[in-house]
Amino acid sequence: MRVDCHMHTPLCGHAVGAPLEYALAALDRKIDLITFTCHIPMEWSAFGQEGIRMPLSDLDRYIALIADTTKKAEAFGVEVLCGIEAEVFPDLGHMEHMDAVLARHPWDFVLGSLHAHCLSYVSWLKENKVKEDQGKIDCYFRHLIDGVQSGRYDSMSHPDVIRTYGVVNQFEPEAHEAVIREFLQTLVESDVCMEVNTSGLNKGDFEVHPDPLIMDWAAEAGVKLTMGSDSHHPLSVGQHFETVLPLLREKGFCDLYYHRQRERIRIDLPEGLPEEAPRLLPD
Ligand SMILES: [Zn+2]
Ligand SMILES: [Zn+2]
Repeated sequence: MRVDCHMHTPLCGHAVGAPLEYALAALDRKIDLITFTCHIPMEWSAFGQEGIRMPLSDLDRYIALIADTTKKAEAFGVEVLCGIEAEVFPDLGHMEHMDAVLARHPWDFVLGSLHAHCLSYVSWLKENKVKEDQGKIDCYFRHLIDGVQSGRYDSMSHPDVIRTYGVVNQFEPEAHEAVIREFLQTLVESDVCMEVNTSGLNKGDFEVHPDPLIMDWAAEAGVKLTMGSDSHHPLSVGQHFETVLPLLREKGFCDLYYHRQRERIRIDLPEGLPEEAPRLLPD
């Protein structure tokens, strides 16, 4: 069985393609189950930037759209679940508002993401006079730890995304081993999953989230994994699974998890998807 538990809809303002096209892409890539996890609506004052999150007025539309896709995709054998990508943010005032939104629907799956590059977090770092890479990375993982302990989330998404959008100059996991291992240990103690997010291979350091070294530490600690492509386009469904699934096996992982009605379900770690046929070079 193959699953992809992280993808978006155009309602967030920065993704394209109808949900049904994502489900058809899953069928094409021999993926049996997909979970939509569009970005949770946030107050703009919390997020600092308009147009990159679903407006609250569209939340019911999102839920109806996914329900409709679930029905249609059932006909061709792809199960479609309805999740949400919630935010991790240090200001608890904003979290209260988000919790009210989360409570409006019995989601299948709730991701927890700290989007360190968004204005809200960059401003927080500035206000708290955190200027150096070391401090920023430490704060980032400490806020993730708080997120894990909050009990809000089923899986922590793209766990080292702080490396990607220029928030820090350099990210070497070995230089932050203590706080990263603490984060991994907290996942295990709180029984929360960590996401392997393959979209990292497309941007920034061109490395999977989390970094392969963090995967080693996660395997040692016994962290449970979910996996997602973070697709913002139907063609990205299952992207890089053919590279990352064998890597996970190499690291010692044998299981993968997905969630239905917030219940965690184990599957055997799938085999990699077939490689794209190598393109013949012209003579
Ligand atoms: Zn997005
Ligand atoms: Zn995200």
